[in-house]
Amino acid sequence: MLRTHYSNEITEELNGKKVKVAGWVQEVKDLGGIKFVWIRDREGIVQVTAPKKKVDPEIFKLIPKLNNEDVVVVEGVVNFTPKAKLGFEIIPEKFEVISKAESPLPLDPTGKVKAELDTRLDNRFMDLRNPKVMAIFKIRSNVFRAVREFFYNKGFIEIHTPKIIATATEGGTELFPMKYFEHDAFLAQSPQLYKQIMMATGLDRVFEIAPIFRAEEHNTTRHLNEAWSIDAEMAFIESEEEVMDLLEELVVYAIDYVREHNEKELEILEFELEKPKQPFPRITYDKALEILADLGKDIPWGEDIDTEGEKMLGKYMKENEDVDLYFIYKYPSEAKPFYIMKYDDKPEICRAFDLEYRGIEISSGGQREHRHDILVEQIREKGLNPESFEFYLKAFRYGMPPHGGFGLGAERLVMRMLNIGNIREVILFPRDRRRLVP
Ligand code: ATP
Ligand code: MG
Repeated sequence: MLRTHYSNEITEELNGKKVKVAGWVQEVKDLGGIKFVWIRDREGIVQVTAPKKKVDPEIFKLIPKLNNEDVVVVEGVVNFTPKAKLGFEIIPEKFEVISKAESPLPLDPTGKVKAELDTRLDNRFMDLRNPKVMAIFKIRSNVFRAVREFFYNKGFIEIHTPKIIATATEGGTELFPMKYFEHDAFLAQSPQLYKQIMMATGLDRVFEIAPIFRAEEHNTTRHLNEAWSIDAEMAFIESEEEVMDLLEELVVYAIDYVREHNEKELEILEFELEKPKQPFPRITYDKALEILADLGKDIPWGEDIDTEGEKMLGKYMKENEDVDLYFIYKYPSEAKPFYIMKYDDKPEICRAFDLEYRGIEISSGGQREHRHDILVEQIREKGLNPESFEFYLKAFRYGMPPHGGFGLGAERLVMRMLNIGNIREVILFPRDRRRLVP
């Protein structure tokens, strides 16, 4: 390897020893008789100090010719001294430029000069050199890691379902059509029907982490056209509340994991990630409507709670219950998809729930209808044709246990966890109405 140590690995035991560091030139300072170079790598910054009397004249000549963001490899001796800003410096013995950076730069990687989000996304490779931006993606990585770990610990089996499909999941219009040889096909908007089919196999507990594709009409700060969904489905449940328990535990696990493993990144982001208050309150849809009515917002019974309503509820829950996370459940059946089970004794409401995080939905789930004939009826009620769901319905005719699950938006989870306003900040190369490149 071209480097022996990352910047954060240079500790006092290395004082007087030789190391090789590598990274991007962050800054050069020329004081005549002494020159400084600050080199940035993934973990931080090192200072290279070149006093004229101590270093090879070739190195001394090379330093003023460096451009910001050149990639360099420096071999030298570690010197711990209170004079250095970081507590230590490296006196170079070899200094090599291995890749030059053009000038001017498309944006300032230190983030001191602010750039528009579009400029940043167009130059994402450089945007991530800003430690604040990189911190988001280090945290995102750990969220995925924590989620996988959680599911494996709980005995879930990881599955992978097709992303090119023939039938719309919910009969919605928000699908991307595509040509599949001589057939019409779509990009999958969710693994919903396939993860349910898996409940007829005996696998019992499955999860999938994969992209979902949605032709969302509007450009909002919480919708992407390609997003990552964390999906779970489990069999032999007695009610949707067991699924809510699992989802709550998962989200708390992910937050705890980040609190524990990303202390440095949270500090860079200047964000205090609090331990969530448990149990997450569970408020019924009716109760949510009541709260909103008291706040002066009337939503007709049966309609979904809109963005403004969600936001108002988020604020209310923070002020009155001091919570960021809470469930809304017992939704009207008309507001939820056909595959959700209705209450037998009160069919106008169903076993669906949403998990809200600071006033934005991050997950939807519920107990599913596993009884074939009722399911067919519910498909019809939504104005859909059961024939186009035959591949799915078939799995309900040969022994299908009661089951339920959820879809949790990974970007929504990360953006709310870090209280970031725009979902585009938490995905490397966002796909939205205008963005297809890079
Ligand atoms: P919303 O009403 O907020 O648009 P939804 O109810 O249409 O979301 P679901 O079909 O319930 O979304 O999908 C489950 C989860 O997937 C959502 O709670 C959300 O976290 C995530 N999700 C759905 N659509 C998108 C999207 N376009 N971009 C990012 N995440 C999404
Ligand atoms: Mg939803």
